[in-house]
Amino acid sequence: MALYLKYRPLTFSDLTGQEFIKKTLKTAISEDKTVGAYIFTGPRGTGKTSTARIFAKAINCENPIDGDPCGVCETCVAFGNNSLIDIIEIDAASHTGVDNIREIIEKAQFQPTHTKYKIYIIDEVHMLSKGAFNALLKILEEPPAHIKFILATTDIHKVPDTILSRCQRYDFKNFSEADIKERLSYIASKEGIVVDEASYHYVAESSEGAMRNAVSLFEQLIVGGTISYEYIKETLGILSKQEQQEFLQKLLHKDISALSDFEGYKNEGKNLKNFIKTIIQLLQTDSIEELKKGNDISRNIDMLDILHTGLQQSKHSFDESLTLKIALLKILNTVDYLGERHEEKVAGKIPLVVTQIDKQAETKNTPEITQSKENLVEAAKDIFGNNQEVNNAKISSPKSHISSGSGFDIEGLIVEMKKKGAKAAASMSLRGSHVSLEGDVLSVQTKTQIAEQTLKKTDNQEFIFQAATEMGIPLSRIQILN
Ligand SMILES: [Zn+2]
Repeated sequence: MALYLKYRPLTFSDLTGQEFIKKTLKTAISEDKTVGAYIFTGPRGTGKTSTARIFAKAINCENPIDGDPCGVCETCVAFGNNSLIDIIEIDAASHTGVDNIREIIEKAQFQPTHTKYKIYIIDEVHMLSKGAFNALLKILEEPPAHIKFILATTDIHKVPDTILSRCQRYDFKNFSEADIKERLSYIASKEGIVVDEASYHYVAESSEGAMRNAVSLFEQLIVGGTISYEYIKETLGILSKQEQQEFLQKLLHKDISALSDFEGYKNEGKNLKNFIKTIIQLLQTDSIEELKKGNDISRNIDMLDILHTGLQQSKHSFDESLTLKIALLKILNTVDYLGERHEEKVAGKIPLVVTQIDKQAETKNTPEITQSKENLVEAAKDIFGNNQEVNNAKISSPKSHISSGSGFDIEGLIVEMKKKGAKAAASMSLRGSHVSLEGDVLSVQTKTQIAEQTLKKTDNQEFIFQAATEMGIPLSRIQILN
């Protein structure tokens, strides 16, 4: 039997996480204050169905203990044997017709045979047809006293308000890594499986908060009674977080050594598809962060597009690694190509949704301040401090880019640099660095050697000088540090 089924919790005490929900439902049982209809909503694998089953059992249990089903009374035992006909589980995904609900209503008129209540658990209730919802609504409007409904759904927005308003609602959250680890350790101890700490972390992280995924993955990783991260790394081609980040940075900076790294992973027999999937995940996270900051993410989007397409194509490819390598080549080859396309997008030649995002990002980052020179100097003082350099700064253009936050306006500088023809590599290196202005010295603390090398190039330095002058900040020196 699959571990997930074997260790399906049978009592609230046995159920991991969802503390508030457990407590509330247990109290309702203890105080005998249950209502006619409940709806449990939340992502997959968060314990909705397990909770519904435990709750239904507890409602009908002859001697509930502190809100938990006793597990030994006739009802509890019958439920355990699946021989209890008064708790009816329906999967709406396969019983969507109105007839099924009619059947329920017809049967609902009869008293339960052995227990206090007839309880209907309707899983994935949002899948019901419109007619079925109407039939369900009729019975919810005037529910017989001996009937209770527990509805569960992953998609609450598809459940009509008329239904929702007649249910007590509980929102299930994704399990935390700690919750998942707790459950897995419990299973491991019961099964006598030796598991190292890194494996717990890996499984908890990979399962994205869904217990079912976690337990299934956990089971797949057992080899000879143990789960070892070394083995996982070998078979699933997992690299350390740092290695993954380094690889991503190489792609972002078009560092060709990414190709030999990839070749190395292939020779080591790593799972290349999983590796690319991980890179896609990292890139998505990075994109969201950049978008929040209002930065241009068109290169990220292009990279995501290329990697995703490569991954799709590799499914049908006679040589998976070659297909993925071609995707990497496309990314590494896109220096000028992407730069050019980006300009076209902004100019409106390629009407993509991306353009909208680009424009928003640009606008957000480069508020055009068209106030008088005096106001601008005041604003600059606020940002750079009230020093002599700023007071004497020559404001050459009414469209100077002053950031709304504190610190140096990197985005403004980048916009000016692009106008002068600077390449994307310079912009990206600046974005990844900490830039500050001390007097008339621009200090750039880079985070990678690649960024340092890029910014130390004479032509890029010249772009920075010119762009800063355009912004009314004549520099005497640029300091590139790593
Ligand atoms: Zn019982």
